[in-house]
Amino acid sequence: MAILVTGGLGYIGSHTVVELLNNNFEVVIVDDLSNTERFILKNIEEITGKRPVFYPFDLKRRELLTQVFDAHHIEGCINFAASKAVGESQLKPIDYYENNLFSLINILQEFKERGISNFIFSSSCTVYGQADKMPIDENTPLKMPESVYGKTKQMGEEILSDFAKAYQRKVSLLRYFNPIGAHPSAKLGELPIGIPNNLVPYVMQTAAGVREKLNIWGNDYPTEDGTAVRDYIYVVDLAKAHVAALQKLMQSTSEEALIDIYNLGTGKGSSVMEVVKAFELANIVEVPYQICDRREGDITIAYANADKAERELGWKSETSLEEALKTVWEWQKYLETRNTEIKL
Ligand code: UDP
Repeated sequence: MAILVTGGLGYIGSHTVVELLNNNFEVVIVDDLSNTERFILKNIEEITGKRPVFYPFDLKRRELLTQVFDAHHIEGCINFAASKAVGESQLKPIDYYENNLFSLINILQEFKERGISNFIFSSSCTVYGQADKMPIDENTPLKMPESVYGKTKQMGEEILSDFAKAYQRKVSLLRYFNPIGAHPSAKLGELPIGIPNNLVPYVMQTAAGVREKLNIWGNDYPTEDGTAVRDYIYVVDLAKAHVAALQKLMQSTSEEALIDIYNLGTGKGSSVMEVVKAFELANIVEVPYQICDRREGDITIAYANADKAERELGWKSETSLEEALKTVWEWQKYLETRNTEIKL
């Protein structure tokens, strides 16, 4: 009995694979290596002492996926495989819809035909847009996301809900807030492929001198210090939530459809400026920055009410922002020792 982890060599995927292996799940990874590198597989093995099965192919290739399902007794899937760059999604909408939705549908075809249940979907708090009140709980009304990337997440949720209802299957839609940090071993983290879009990788590279200055996108928001507020959740905490969500689905004996929805965040909002200051303090480094105009499409504030995950999964965020930011710096040092090529 194995769990298929698509995108299992990616940022959140690799951390989740480690947690699954630590909990004695058998793991089968499919990853096309489009946004990661092979050494992550070796590092997963070094951390856990176990080597998961790995297939390097694009999930749009249904015939290869069918072979994986033929070769293994798959009893669930955690689906991380997706393109995730918000700006790029606006420029290449058809590629984003094709990549993110065709791969999902291919897996669901296999699930449907083989009677498999237990599907965990990487969703995002972008489905809420700029919510009217904080914190955001799971009953907060959804808004049409501004980006194509966000739309693929919302469409993915709808496809999965219809799948669960029509075929009486169990799905869990996990809405992540802002994942940050690296594995405590410093062997896994977010790979610096291209110019980072996200705040923390950019801060990391600025502190390391790879980037000259951090651009802070706007300090005229209606927040305490004028910079935008997000809920930064440590990636290992996030990975553990996937195991808890999977265990809940697998333990459910109901014959009915089950559609779980959980917000995964810390419940605490931090401003861009607070993140920069916390990074400097945690790592005793300097992060030069300049204030720029607001970035198009950015919302002012988003932080989670994650009480439902605590109540139903027994999961909650445990790691502070400072601790998470320390792991980021250790990861940067590891990358430097590896001399991993940083593609500017
Ligand atoms: N941000 C910034 N400079 C950067 C990257 C991000 O000021 O180089 C800000 C961004 O405007 C937002 C916050 O940091 O307010 C988090 O952005 P990120 O892209 O990490 O996540 P988002 O919440 O937008 O998905």
